[in-house]
Amino acid sequence: MSSSAHASLFQKFKLPNGVEYEQPLGLFINGEFVPGKERKTFDVVNPTTGKVVGEVHGATAADVDIAADAAETAFYDGPWSRMSSGERGRLILKLADLLEENMTTLASIESFDNGKVFQQAKGDIYSCIRLLQYFGGWADKIHGKVIETSPGSFNFTKQEPIGVCGMIVPWNFPLLNCFLKIAPAMACGNTLILKTAEQTPLSALYAARLSKEAGFPPGVINILSGFGKTAGAAIASHMKVQKVSFTGSTAVGRQVMKAAAESNLKKITLELGGKSPQIICEDADIGRAVEWINAGIFYNSGQCCSAGSRIYVQESIYDKVVEAFKKRAQANVVGDPFDETTFQGAQVSEAQYNRVMSYIELGKREGARLEIGGERHGSEGYFIKPTVFSNVTEDMRIMQEEIFGPVCAISKFKDVEDAIAKGNATKYGLASGVHTQSLSTAMEIANKLRAGTVWINCFNAFDAALPFGGYGESGFGRELGKAALDGYTQTKTVSINLS
Ligand code: ADP
Repeated sequence: MSSSAHASLFQKFKLPNGVEYEQPLGLFINGEFVPGKERKTFDVVNPTTGKVVGEVHGATAADVDIAADAAETAFYDGPWSRMSSGERGRLILKLADLLEENMTTLASIESFDNGKVFQQAKGDIYSCIRLLQYFGGWADKIHGKVIETSPGSFNFTKQEPIGVCGMIVPWNFPLLNCFLKIAPAMACGNTLILKTAEQTPLSALYAARLSKEAGFPPGVINILSGFGKTAGAAIASHMKVQKVSFTGSTAVGRQVMKAAAESNLKKITLELGGKSPQIICEDADIGRAVEWINAGIFYNSGQCCSAGSRIYVQESIYDKVVEAFKKRAQANVVGDPFDETTFQGAQVSEAQYNRVMSYIELGKREGARLEIGGERHGSEGYFIKPTVFSNVTEDMRIMQEEIFGPVCAISKFKDVEDAIAKGNATKYGLASGVHTQSLSTAMEIANKLRAGTVWINCFNAFDAALPFGGYGESGFGRELGKAALDGYTQTKTVSINLS
């Protein structure tokens, strides 16, 4: 970050698809856009060109302190603390409506800032709206239980909000990652401080302005642009933050957990990395399975924590599937995210581009067969061709480590037992896919895979109502569905002596 005393708080942007709007650039604290206390700013880069397109204000620990005070006051003393659950739900639904009205602008910002395909960005914004509608509907349906013990007592539980929730999100689905946390947290009555990823700060700032328009009281939603080691670490260790919900790498997840343990033992939800298997059995509908494995790995330029990056194909159909998949992957159009024919945009940053390319080099050195791709697309920006390695063995790092790019590893399996063993040969456990026409084979594999989600004859089939989260080193706690409410409430027991 650099120091800039006179950086603006708003700037007119004209995006490559002609959309013009005013972009907020400040930190959103207590309902206002403000500069950081230490007047730091950092550059915003367009991944399709590698060029700087603007600068936003960056938060330091001092700003996290200010935001934490605002969020704490809003939680205990502000209008939010006195609002009925129905009114809270209505505000959340109002925000959903505003997102819908601003769909084109938000999707354009997302595509511009992240490098993702505009049509896919529209899908992200649509998912944000659905999340707000789903959790807005929950706001007045969160309640405890009456628990009978003895005739002389009356006992009940309440599901109370936790307080100030810290949220730290990555850049792959910039706004969607925010609302995966914001929507359930607000439904439960919490207040929040959210730090966006330093690569993609723009869309959340625009949404912050919409939250003000919706009528959320000051201090309920605080959005900080900033870096992990400064603002992120300050949130994870802050004594006024009662819960931290983190999405990102397993390495940083460990640090967040450590910071939570060493500060105030704040509650934690971790949604971490993955190396999800896709298992294609010999009785699968090959044409459909190939469509799913293609979308499963190459959607969002391979930058999905759930990406189906390990592809296991039954021996008898292996050659046929590899050929069909290669052909399908080569048909993916890579390039300008705003072109309607494009399926794969840019990687988010130069650092990610370099990381993915170094894994491709590693795969070649490890002895895997490079079937297609493996190189840059075009001459500027961070584009990588869809890359498929075959003959990959379990010990290779490209089979074990999360690459987070358009690169997948294919290998064979003999029978169902072998498929399950290979599917489970990972420290991760986020998601998995099975392709077969046999219900009993599908269920046998689904029951034995150690993963938070099993998709059968589909992949990345998310819904606001379906819980999502990890087994193993992919984390714990669930986002989406009713299960997400557990992460943003705590149970209070009230026991009355009637005798
Ligand atoms: P990625 O590799 O996808 O960028 P990271 O785990 O590095 O994933 O980053 C995810 C989020 O965590 C980002 O918002 C980043 O700024 C933040 N972050 C990075 N380091 C830390 C840290 N030490 N403490 C808290 N947050 C961090």
